[in-house]
Amino acid sequence: MTIKTDAVIVGAGPVGLFQAFQLGLQDIRCHIVDALPYVGGQCVELYGDKPIYDIPGIPLCTGRQLVEQLQQQTKPFAPTLHLNQEVIAVECLPSGELDIRTSTQQHFVCKTLFIAAGVGAFQARKLTVDGAQAFEGTQLHYRLGELASYTNQDVWVIGGEEAAVSAALQLVHQTQHKPRSVTLMHRRDVFQAAPELEKAMRDAVAQGQLQLQIGQLTGLHGNANSLQTISIATATGETIERPAQQLIACLGLSPKLGPITQWGLAMERKQLVVNTETYGTDVPGIFAVGDINTYPGKKKLILCGFHEATLAAFGAAAIVHPTRKTLLQYTTTSTELHRLLGIA
Ligand code: FAD
Repeated sequence: MTIKTDAVIVGAGPVGLFQAFQLGLQDIRCHIVDALPYVGGQCVELYGDKPIYDIPGIPLCTGRQLVEQLQQQTKPFAPTLHLNQEVIAVECLPSGELDIRTSTQQHFVCKTLFIAAGVGAFQARKLTVDGAQAFEGTQLHYRLGELASYTNQDVWVIGGEEAAVSAALQLVHQTQHKPRSVTLMHRRDVFQAAPELEKAMRDAVAQGQLQLQIGQLTGLHGNANSLQTISIATATGETIERPAQQLIACLGLSPKLGPITQWGLAMERKQLVVNTETYGTDVPGIFAVGDINTYPGKKKLILCGFHEATLAAFGAAAIVHPTRKTLLQYTTTSTELHRLLGIA
């Protein structure tokens, strides 16, 4: 289905979210697309529980708290979120509109596009063991999928981060679709997870609900494209083979700039070149804000992204509402902004 809209934002990081707010103040409705299944970009993905001290007016908050506040602030404008999908293609139409396509076949035709893609789309780090690709999507997954597919299977969760520990515990605590066995494997007996989550994992191991294997996956074995066993190099230098029908590899995420480089926009050192009046790129109607852009003096800071998003929204207002005068109004006093914000 094609969605016709004023604006599409690529990226639901802090700058993409604030962009939606600023567009709302200009009476521009938008859709936001992100490759991740949740909003927040680097703030949630890389430092959700760590403190930030340099957001104006907020002496201290965590990455996750900042994102929660931004979502709250954006609520009056109800941007539609399209998560778990990457924007893969952008084309200019003869009408002057933009044609946007995502990896899940979502199609938009919009008047303006805001690229708030940060350092790129976060994608799961892949297993590098020979033959892994053949099992992808059937017996090898990069995040916990439908729980029913693990019923009566020997499931291995690979990784040492919070996502791996949490996936292993969810499987263990399954009541409906119980796996035959659940093993958490990591190369070292050290886990990067919240203390309470690690404790729950250690308790499950002590109670025999969860197996813990310290070692590295070295081989996948099966027949007729069906995975049966895996080889593991253990911490003591042995190689062992164990039954495995399902693997969930939680090896972390890495950002990939990917398709953005093919949209025909001027770039410098993997960043989109913008003017500092509207943060527009060299293509009319396409703006770039936050970590993805470059200009003299650029600093990759959240507050700089917020400023860019504000001026980009003014730039977009001239395109979306060409006959309206774009005046500077204060949220404190403007009845028009109060109307847009839904304040009585
Ligand atoms: P991001 O946060 O990177 O979000 C971009 C989003 O776009 C991602 O969710 C990505 O999945 C999505 N995306 C990319 N390409 C596509 C595509 N093609 N399709 C769909 N989605 C796509 N800054 C500060 O100001 N103060 C700090 O204290 C601070 N601390 C930091 C600590 C760490 C450890 C790190 C790594 C960074 C820190 N930063 C800090 C920097 C700050 O996080 C970034 O400046 C900020 O996240 C940039 O926001 P953004 O919205 O531009 O991009």
